[in-house]
Amino acid sequence: MSLDLSIVIPLYNEEESLPELVAWIEKVCTANNFSREIIMIDDGSTDDSWQVVEKLTAEFASVRGIKFQRNYGKSPALHEGFKAASGNVIITMDADLQDSPDEIPELYSMIVNDGFDLVSGWKKVRYDNAVTKNLPSKLYNGVNRRLTGIKLHDMNCGLKAYKRKVVKSIEVYGEMHRFIPVLAKYAGFKKIGEKVVQHRARKYGSSKFGWERFINGFLDLLSIQFVSRFGKKPMHLFGAMGSFTFLIGFFFTMSLIIDKIRFGDNFSITNKPAFYLSLTAMVVGTLFFLTGFLAELITRNAADRNVYLMDEKIGWDN
Ligand code: UDP
Ligand code: MG
Repeated sequence: MSLDLSIVIPLYNEEESLPELVAWIEKVCTANNFSREIIMIDDGSTDDSWQVVEKLTAEFASVRGIKFQRNYGKSPALHEGFKAASGNVIITMDADLQDSPDEIPELYSMIVNDGFDLVSGWKKVRYDNAVTKNLPSKLYNGVNRRLTGIKLHDMNCGLKAYKRKVVKSIEVYGEMHRFIPVLAKYAGFKKIGEKVVQHRARKYGSSKFGWERFINGFLDLLSIQFVSRFGKKPMHLFGAMGSFTFLIGFFFTMSLIIDKIRFGDNFSITNKPAFYLSLTAMVVGTLFFLTGFLAELITRNAADRNVYLMDEKIGWDN
């Protein structure tokens, strides 16, 4: 029998919060009769977080720990937690007590009973710094909704629930933890929902992310969009851009040549803006093309060029 729940908690220097967090999760899960495991990933903490995790594993049978050699980031921590998770439903939450374990039963039921693939928390009322966090977050989520077509108000909420299949199908690397719903959507999971969740002010320790997250996040979003659309066929993008730019240059060059033929010595090519425009356009167009060819060579050699996620296969003898 597999476990009902895997609760995955990435943590970095959160020693004060952990005992309270685990006790609270245990209380909620016991009250709801969930069989569970609590997977704590210590992302290279420099305080006593790992000692606290060790103590908690001795105290509670459900607690498991993974420790990184150094600080790698929230995404690698989540990825490792997802690999280790064996529950039917996976719930992620932050370690800092900003997310409430009281949300667990409802999130679980949305996955199991309402058939959601992924449910993201929505911190409708937020207790973070208004200027560095809340306002940029609103803008950012708006852009996100537009670009990805995923209608979530709070894509980066740490509190989320997943079907097991979802976390086993995606790879959260770099700083992609901000875009897990996007990764899930591109992996073919369509039923993505959200639930308004309580948010609390940070009780201990300090936030690990500042305003830079929005710049990095935006760049990551562009990368995701690019890779998911053109990752396996980069020439379709660069070839199109290259042809278009090159043709503009070619068109202007032709018109200059025709004018030269018509007007002879009275026509100077080099003092026409079109001359410089066409020169630049043809060079840039060629560069786009070369970039496309290089990108094709890289993707042809990529180890995962032929990796697909198989949903089911029937009628095979073995
Ligand atoms: N975290 C982590 N590795 C890092 C940074 C953060 O595992 O390099 C964890 C952190 O301990 C917390 C969660 O990710 O459990 C969210 O971080 P934080 O609370 O600092 O973010 P905020 O709530 O301020 O957005
Ligand atoms: Mg936090």
